[in-house]
Amino acid sequence: MDLAPPPLSAARKASLAQYGVDQWGRGFLQCSAAGTLEFCAPGLPPVDLHHLAAGLAARGVRPPLVVRFPTMIHERMERLAQAFAEAATEFEYPGAHQGVYPLKVNARRSVVDAVAAVRPRLGFGLEAGSKPELLLAMSQPVVPGTLLLVNGFKDHELLRMAFHAAELGHDVVVVLESVPETRRFLDVTAEEAWVARPRLGLRAKLDTRGSGRWHRSSGEASKFGLSSAEILAACRILDEGGCLDRLVLLHFHIGSQITQIKRIKRAVREATRTYAALRSGRCTALAYLDLGGGIGVDYDGSRTSYASSANYTLEEYARQVVYEVGAVVEETKVPAPTIVTESGRAMVASHAVTITDLREVQGDLPEIPPPAEGEHRVVVELREVLAEISSKNYEEYFHDAVDFREEAFHLFLAGVLRLEERAAADALFAHIREKTRRIVANLAEPSEEIAEQLERASRKYLANFSIFQSLPDAWSVGQVFPAAPLSRHDRRPTVRAQIVDITCDSDGCVHTFAHPDENLSELPLHPSDNADPYYLGFFMTGAYQDALAAAHNLFGRGHEVVVRPSGDVPPLPGMERLDLDGTIVDVKVGATASTMLEAMDHDIDSLLAQLRDRHLPVETTLGKPWALGLLQSYPYLAR
Ligand SMILES: *Cc1c(COP(=O)(O)O)cnc(C)c1O
Repeated sequence: MDLAPPPLSAARKASLAQYGVDQWGRGFLQCSAAGTLEFCAPGLPPVDLHHLAAGLAARGVRPPLVVRFPTMIHERMERLAQAFAEAATEFEYPGAHQGVYPLKVNARRSVVDAVAAVRPRLGFGLEAGSKPELLLAMSQPVVPGTLLLVNGFKDHELLRMAFHAAELGHDVVVVLESVPETRRFLDVTAEEAWVARPRLGLRAKLDTRGSGRWHRSSGEASKFGLSSAEILAACRILDEGGCLDRLVLLHFHIGSQITQIKRIKRAVREATRTYAALRSGRCTALAYLDLGGGIGVDYDGSRTSYASSANYTLEEYARQVVYEVGAVVEETKVPAPTIVTESGRAMVASHAVTITDLREVQGDLPEIPPPAEGEHRVVVELREVLAEISSKNYEEYFHDAVDFREEAFHLFLAGVLRLEERAAADALFAHIREKTRRIVANLAEPSEEIAEQLERASRKYLANFSIFQSLPDAWSVGQVFPAAPLSRHDRRPTVRAQIVDITCDSDGCVHTFAHPDENLSELPLHPSDNADPYYLGFFMTGAYQDALAAAHNLFGRGHEVVVRPSGDVPPLPGMERLDLDGTIVDVKVGATASTMLEAMDHDIDSLLAQLRDRHLPVETTLGKPWALGLLQSYPYLAR
């Protein structure tokens, strides 16, 4: 299908550039003639996100919601496989490549199903790092020729699970991370006459460190893996236990979101050297070199080594990796290993959009009270500044206004200024600031100091979501996501606003929005207009946010919306299929108040009994059991 976007007007082009959509949204976002953002997922006609959110709201499915496009995941997996195939051809690499999906990155049903749908065709394996993840992986159909990798800390029980997974027919590789784990594996081997046994891998602790936010996952001090000496010790133990012939894989993982390709190259070289040394020694069953995950996502569209970007593409990654492995293989004459990659973020980040609606603007200009009889001097002075401030005098006058307002505050503290007068001073100051803002906006070289002061006092838009639930990485690790309104790109935004969420936590703000030139601390937005809903999209939220989501203030998960090519497959269990003007979506409603209370160990029946006992009208006037209704409602703002 030809998805060539319609020609863009200059206004729309400028609008997209302000948010960086033209860079970070390259290939999957376009702007409609009506100024709305359209998501272009493979196999689907463009989906107007504003229209979608409005249509859902009309059916009671209001933001916050996560909209997923599973075919985006298919495309990324396909691109990775393709990139390695092409790199192997280019460098005449005789080995194969196998992608593996790490469940940790997003284990949500719709995501796992999306991965599962293309695994047989693309030969992708699965990686599990905990018991629930392993249960999920082993319950998936066996896909011949693909690995089921078991990572993480493995107790006796988890190791037994891995044996059972092998008995189910999966090609299980248990990746040993420590010497005690190696011994434990031998113990479990001896426990039973297993019908089938897992094969083994070793996780190497490399000296090469990743780059970016997760660089501590690697290097000498990392929490994971075996040092060179420990690798040799583990091999000795396996040899003595008669299991060295089961050692097929050498693994490393130098962290997530690796921003610099040169770190990857160095790590691959270090690992391939280790691989070659072991393979040409006693570890003759070695056949896989597993490079872990870490392919970076270009969240800001800058293609740099900045923490929320990556200075390479999937194709460049594949080329560099295949080149490095190939060079060592050729030099050492060991058989070329199958190159395994476990990148998750780069496979699933872009498939999801988190949509919230923007509400009342805090910081709307207050009314200026009319001059009053006997008004205090500071108030009169502020009135004059407001009347007279202009582009010729704004520096001096704005400073004067700051001083008068300060004076008004101290006079109020001293009991001199009445509350009405203080309110008048504050209102006048707000208007002076707004006027100054307009003056400064039209100057070629405005005073930097004043521009900065104005910036600090920007407006706030209330976004109907919880950052802790919907963008946990933005709060916890300072991850920067791109964002843009879903409509009004045909109009110039006239407001710069901070985005605050509806939690009662001062951390509940989005401080930074990804942008290719310089990240934004505020978003250019349009004045609120209650007639028309104003939706804000956070993009590339498909990796990690689901599992890390937190229930702060008892705001739980929002609604889930999955958009797939129609007639593709039946709706997922627990989801309802809706037809929104021809766009077919599957919807799962979010967590209700009672779900959230139960999650905190409260018992809904006794909670209701408590209300009844105190004669609260649980069944109310209108005959509606309102308390029950509240419990079944969503904690987010209703309208
Ligand atoms: C987290 C993890 C991955 C996935 O990393 P991404 O950065 O999402 O690609 C892969 N392998 C291991 C061992 C991991 O711990």
